[in-house]
Amino acid sequence: MFKSGTIVKVLLPNVVNRGYDYRLNTDADLGAFVRVTLMNRPYVGVIYGVGDGAVAPDKIKDISCVFPWKLSIADLQWIQKMSDWTLMAPGAVLRLIINVPDAFAEPKMEQLYSYNFDAPKSKMTESRQMVLDAFELNDNEPMSVPDIQSIARVGPSVVKTMITRGMLVPAFSRPIEQSFEYQYRDMGNIELNAEQRVAADKIGHDIDQGGFSVNLLDGITGSGKTQVYFDSVWRAYSAGKSVLLMMPEIALTTQFIKRFESRFGAPPVVWHSNLTAARRRDIWRGVMQGKIRVVVGTRSALFLPWQNLGLIVVDEEHDSSYKQEDMGNYHGRDMAILRAKLSNFPVVLASATPSEETMHNIEIGRYGHLVLRSRYGGAELPKIETIDMRENRPEEYKVNNEESRVGSLSPVLCEEIKNTLNNHRQVMLFINRRGFAPIVQCKKCGWVATCADCSVGMTYHKRLGKLLCHMCGRTMALPDVCPDCGGDVSMRGAGLEKIEEEVKSRFPSARTAIVSSDTMMSRGALERLVAKMESGELDIIIGTQILAKGHHFPNLTLVGVVDADMGLFGTDFRSPEHTFQQLFQVAGRAGRGNAPGRVLLQTYQPTHPVLTAICAGNRDEFFRADMDARRAAKMPPFGQLIAVVIECKKESVLKKFCEDLSRAVPNVNGARIMGPVMAQIYMARNWYRMRFLISGDARAHLQPLVTLWLSRVNVPANVRVKIDVNPMNFM
Ligand code: ADP
Ligand code: ZN
Ligand code: ZN
Repeated sequence: MFKSGTIVKVLLPNVVNRGYDYRLNTDADLGAFVRVTLMNRPYVGVIYGVGDGAVAPDKIKDISCVFPWKLSIADLQWIQKMSDWTLMAPGAVLRLIINVPDAFAEPKMEQLYSYNFDAPKSKMTESRQMVLDAFELNDNEPMSVPDIQSIARVGPSVVKTMITRGMLVPAFSRPIEQSFEYQYRDMGNIELNAEQRVAADKIGHDIDQGGFSVNLLDGITGSGKTQVYFDSVWRAYSAGKSVLLMMPEIALTTQFIKRFESRFGAPPVVWHSNLTAARRRDIWRGVMQGKIRVVVGTRSALFLPWQNLGLIVVDEEHDSSYKQEDMGNYHGRDMAILRAKLSNFPVVLASATPSEETMHNIEIGRYGHLVLRSRYGGAELPKIETIDMRENRPEEYKVNNEESRVGSLSPVLCEEIKNTLNNHRQVMLFINRRGFAPIVQCKKCGWVATCADCSVGMTYHKRLGKLLCHMCGRTMALPDVCPDCGGDVSMRGAGLEKIEEEVKSRFPSARTAIVSSDTMMSRGALERLVAKMESGELDIIIGTQILAKGHHFPNLTLVGVVDADMGLFGTDFRSPEHTFQQLFQVAGRAGRGNAPGRVLLQTYQPTHPVLTAICAGNRDEFFRADMDARRAAKMPPFGQLIAVVIECKKESVLKKFCEDLSRAVPNVNGARIMGPVMAQIYMARNWYRMRFLISGDARAHLQPLVTLWLSRVNVPANVRVKIDVNPMNFM
């Protein structure tokens, strides 16, 4: 407790700061939320320590208000450690926590609108459907116009028209604070089987005993991991602790929320990026006041102002969406583990395809390993086989009964699709490429359509009727002839939309749908498709990796991977791991009901070790081989990497600054600074990009080295320096 009159350091939520001195005019605890002004602007910050005397006593301002809520000392340590690790300033970390601007202010008056389900019939356009989905994501509560626009991703005119047509009607104008004070009980409707019981008891023991531990719940899809960690959630919750259940956004489905509710008698509080401002505020305050003790959320839920947190579950722990890559680079799973370590409580990781980092931590005895070997209820694992495309060339197919096109589906796969449809079962085709054709090229001179702002090719999207840059979203008309030489333009490669065309041509009577992040703007839309799949209104579903996760379709018996080679030859050391995980996850979609499933992988490389390991169902074998390769190359987890990406709109400034940086490289044993090289995507959104890569052995202290190095140069105002510790993305 600091006495009134003490000069304290207050950390503010902004990207550069490490804390400013202020005077207390009342007693306050370390970690308390306080209101201060800085350059005449009000801020909420936290008391971070004693003042360091950097400000002259007569210049020091008073803290204007001390709130009755605080972060724990362990949380402050967490902010500091996270800053040390990611090289974000502590203020930038605090900004992830204090990210709800009005959390400490009186609720604002604003006009809200409800969705009017009794409105006179109006055409349900795609954007209106997106508005409806935005309401569904927020339990149909009234929303402000800015919320509707940002969550549905529609323009002001859509909302305006919907208001004039009576589809949106005015509701009350003051946000009423929702309490979300759910009481949970164990509904006693689940009895764990022996294997599940062993795993649940081990975690339960760790929870009861207290203290830090990490356990991996390792089980194939359908083995019942969710039921096991629900048991852990109950243990911690019923002992009075708060519980955070983290999952990737796309796994956070209505299906999941219903399962939670049926197990615990009330729904979880759900936290993700598509909540209204009012709801974010209510949840944030509820957590801070200790009223909300269970949240299911995406990686940002880790930064809620938790009180008495006693368990974190990280579902799909291998998922790359845990890595934040824009506003600071942190890994949600790793930062969750760090938080648990500092606050002394257990973490449960769950996955059917654990990351190699986690497997390594098990190997060296740091994490516990709890394995679920069989599918719950004994459903069989699907049989996985390759189709050698060198011997099974796809036949041409016809569009509109005239034009012939080169196909992508081999005769073997087509035959199997036909059989499956005849048996009234469902098919999933997986192709991880959006749009129609990824390459648009001149047949004569070789010109390729590329984005004017990014050094990447543009993809032809048929639905859109345009070329689209997947990097920045720029669109361009499809040229009739080559802009350079006037020659004919051809499309190469196959994306989702082309596969759809082929499927419709070959199986005209099948009911077909496609799913990708661009046709599925909202989760509502995805869930409608999932419901159609479940009720048997669809025969063939074609999708990108968004389909690989979570869903449980009992009647789905055939999964076809159109291009299993994609990703095998990626440029970064994680490509084999990610390909393995993705194919394994996709395979896990098949045969989850009583009928056995079959998975066919189309490949030109049937003997590639990643593919043979998948076909053999031999995950351990794959891991061992890949780990050996990483050990030899001193790649993580056997070495460390930090990427430093320098970006500038002026190429000459960028070059000059990179030269300055090269000259400033410090000499340190056990570490190397490589570069600069042009980034793989040299230009993105009109910014030129160069990369340095710092590598070192597992015990080297690379972060201080990077700090020292960067402190030796002056960064020009128009240059961005992005530091990525343990990068996942090498673009
Ligand atoms: P995972 O999370 O490993 O993919 P789930 O927890 O989703 O597996 O379980 C797969 C299916 O089996 C689900 O429908 C689930 O409700 C059911 N299930 C799993 N364990 C049990 C249990 N102990 N009792 C009843 N049903 C269970
Ligand atoms: Zn040309
Ligand atoms: Zn672009």
